[in-house]
Amino acid sequence: MEKFTVDEARLKAVEDNFKSIKDRVMETAVKAGRNPDDVRLMAVTKTVESVYINKAIEVGADLIGENRVQEYLGKKDELNLDGVEKHLIGHLQTNKVKQIVGEVDMIESVDSIKLAKEISRVSVNKGVDTNILVEVNVGKEDSKSGVYMEQLEELLVQIAALDNVKIRGLMTIPPICDSEKEVAEYFSKMYQSFIDIRDKKLDNVRMDILSMGMSGDFEAAVANGSNIVRVGSAIFGARKYF
Ligand SMILES: *Cc1c(COP(=O)(O)O)cnc(C)c1O
Repeated sequence: MEKFTVDEARLKAVEDNFKSIKDRVMETAVKAGRNPDDVRLMAVTKTVESVYINKAIEVGADLIGENRVQEYLGKKDELNLDGVEKHLIGHLQTNKVKQIVGEVDMIESVDSIKLAKEISRVSVNKGVDTNILVEVNVGKEDSKSGVYMEQLEELLVQIAALDNVKIRGLMTIPPICDSEKEVAEYFSKMYQSFIDIRDKKLDNVRMDILSMGMSGDFEAAVANGSNIVRVGSAIFGARKYF
């Protein structure tokens, strides 16, 4: 194994970044007339070594998001996870469901009935309930996972009938946009359908979480109704892929 040395300057940067992003989230919420306590800041920890994740937790991160099942299971024993909520936010393959159910508090990236059925089956077997968000492909991009808006309600109704799966809301990653105004339109569209579905009060469909906004656009997301922003590089620095 390669020798790993802790970068003290990076530790300090994680602390400073986390605090300043947290402040910006709160300020944006207040400016938008929202209760700042209604917006949670998730630290997205993919590719980040445990020591830096633990620094974020030490300075207040109480929600982390990981993309890959294997990576999360490999790191979790090194993390100080007392009081920290864990979400899986990356695309999940059906054959990995067995490993992740029961290990995280929420799976944010459910986008098919096939995946939801497997989550249900494994949750029943393990005797747990699994909270999920349905991922929406709001920009209809081929490169992205997620259900199209037009199919969303039908999928929600199908998932709602499954045992041990608890629908809690929606998640999205909008297309890369040239302007803040353009991305805000996607967020606003998501918020509108979040509210529409919530108001329909479908059986077994709770709509209390709208997860949207990342390092480059979390302020636009908060201004448009997000209640979880998922921030990685703005906290931990640019990702290095090995
Ligand atoms: C990586 C990732 C993020 C965070 O992206 P940043 O631009 O680094 O903030 C958020 N959500 C998902 C689903 C991701 O994969």
